[in-house]
Amino acid sequence: MENIIRYLKHSENVLIASHVNPDGDAVGSLIAMGLALNALNIKTTLYNESKIPTVYCFLPSVARIVPTLDNIQNSTFEYDAAIVLDCGDIQRVGKMGSELGKSGSGFQLINIDHHITNTYFGDFHLIDISACATAEIIYRLIKKMGVPITSAIATCIYTGILTDTGSFRFSNTNKAAFEICNEMVALGVDPYNVAKHVYGRYSMGRLKLLNLALDTLEVSYNGKVSMMTITRDMFDETGTQAEDTDGLINYARRIKDVKLAVLIQECWLPDCQLPVSDYHIPVKKQQSEIKKRPGSVAKNRNFHVSLRSDGTIDVASIAANFGGGGHRTAAGFNIESSISDLKYGIFNLAKEIVN
Ligand code: 5GP
Ligand code: MN
Ligand code: MN
Repeated sequence: MENIIRYLKHSENVLIASHVNPDGDAVGSLIAMGLALNALNIKTTLYNESKIPTVYCFLPSVARIVPTLDNIQNSTFEYDAAIVLDCGDIQRVGKMGSELGKSGSGFQLINIDHHITNTYFGDFHLIDISACATAEIIYRLIKKMGVPITSAIATCIYTGILTDTGSFRFSNTNKAAFEICNEMVALGVDPYNVAKHVYGRYSMGRLKLLNLALDTLEVSYNGKVSMMTITRDMFDETGTQAEDTDGLINYARRIKDVKLAVLIQECWLPDCQLPVSDYHIPVKKQQSEIKKRPGSVAKNRNFHVSLRSDGTIDVASIAANFGGGGHRTAAGFNIESSISDLKYGIFNLAKEIVN
């Protein structure tokens, strides 16, 4: 941490990025870090390739987040440092990931994250898998930098921790989550206002999508595995987008006796201007193959698979086998398959895991 602070304090211009299809931690950490560096008179560019989900658009300075670096995107970056937040691997940044990952680009790459599958890309690493959120690490960094935490920074940190811990319910909820949030409230955060924006402003379409998704819920292996599927048709029918599936898998995970919950959601090419495009990052080399149905000839499509466990199964390593990653109890990966082969494959995989 000291080396990162020393380096940043000598920087003039810093790029900060977080992962595609951002959650509250990815957006909150991004803005908090940006505001803290600005307080030290360091110029920042806040980058996120995806549309920021509507529920996080109340965050201060959210309009400063840009989806492209076109204005400055030559072969040479004019940054002293690029900070990548809440990303287990550099591809999570999306299209800009490979550019940032190139060595010899003239800037130092700083990797700040809490995923167990972090690949230690970058020149500096600040990885703490016991942190409840990247926002917890950012909080410590800001404190160490000696930057006062304004109510704007506090709102971003609070939102990051609130959302990544599932409102203090997931297994990553630690003492620090409560301590830091307590301090953030003392510094001016209004918990009701944050909750209202994050959890209280769903569109009708989002609830209709939930309805369709719940209709697909299947439970197998003595109730130990649950699975839901969301196809492109369902997004079209309800006028929803990828951001509207955030948290939806928790319905599958909440069922009594479920050890492994799976949500399969379709994604499609970025160029066609349709939702869920953000997950279409290149499917990485996989160590595992999805077992196909015998004689299957179904057409392949792109899917994002979310996995959740009750703590007895390490879903991060399952996701990593398919080129993805995450945490022990929450992970994901992208895959190209037909829907029927994918479901068949996952059920077979699950059988080996829960039995
Ligand atoms: P979700 O299922 O909500 O997309 O993601 C659950 C967790 O797994 C999050 O912490 C997320 O960052 C991580 N995750 C999801 N998809 C990927 C992926 O493709 N690669 C990596 N490295 N992590 C992922
Ligand atoms: Mn995240
Ligand atoms: Mn996170």
